Amino acid sequence: MGTAPPPVIRRPQDTVGFCMACNDLVRRTPQATCEHGHPAEIVYGALDVAADEAVPQLPRFNWAAFFMPPIWGASHGAVVAGLIVLPLWLFLDSNVQSAVYGIDAQTPLGTRIGVYGMTALIALLTIALMVWFGRTGWGLAWRRHYGDGDSDMPMAEFMRREKRWYWICIPFFFALLGLAIYYWIAFLPQTL
Ligand SMILES: [Zn+2]
Repeated sequence: MGTAPPPVIRRPQDTVGFCMACNDLVRRTPQATCEHGHPAEIVYGALDVAADEAVPQLPRFNWAAFFMPPIWGASHGAVVAGLIVLPLWLFLDSNVQSAVYGIDAQTPLGTRIGVYGMTALIALLTIALMVWFGRTGWGLAWRRHYGDGDSDMPMAEFMRREKRWYWICIPFFFALLGLAIYYWIAFLPQTL
């Protein structure tokens, strides 16, 4: 009969977690709350960082989550990101089509303002949503990896792995955009 190793008792102040209110990594207090005064319930995940070491820094903006929410989201347990953004992209595309090809000198002013206004609104909404994914992406990835507190992967290694998605998501976005523009210029005018 073997003896089980003693359970690791970690002090809260020797861990960092992700605080939803700070939208950042924070050191826990001895009471396990956020060092900036937020309750323990909204500080997720745990990585061992001794009390005398600096809190590791996450990058501010996740460019993979920003450019390609459908792919990045699906690979990070957030399929909903794609379900929100994909229809918006298609809707924006059809709005821009109307604004470019559906408007001419005979179009009443009210209709013109409506089409342009709607296009600008959808574009703003879409970009705002993508920016939100970019701003929250690193936190989501961190909570996903360190959420149960069992991983001892160093942060540098975690970030190196996460940044692989940059090499997939960013080129994919521009390839898609290039295809859309090519279609627009080469084929769309003939179908109208
Ligand atoms: Zn906080």
